[in-house]
Amino acid sequence: MAEFKQFNQRNAKAYQQQRNLIKQVLAGKSRCCEHCQQALFVVLPGQSKPAGIYCAKGCTAIELEMAAPSS
Ligand SMILES: [Zn+2]
Repeated sequence: MAEFKQFNQRNAKAYQQQRNLIKQVLAGKSRCCEHCQQALFVVLPGQSKPAGIYCAKGCTAIELEMAAPSS
């Protein structure tokens, strides 16, 4: 099952990179889409599309599972 294992490792790495990207964008750092080099922006819950991180062209579209505010 070497292929399966490799696939999982790649997924885990991509997942980790995505988590880091989300963290940076939410912290107010400007990051660019790796495909189109447009700036990424945050969509918050209650706006016209699902909460997440998007680029202007739509090749980056990471939907966030927003936890309800605890306060
Ligand atoms: Zn893009």
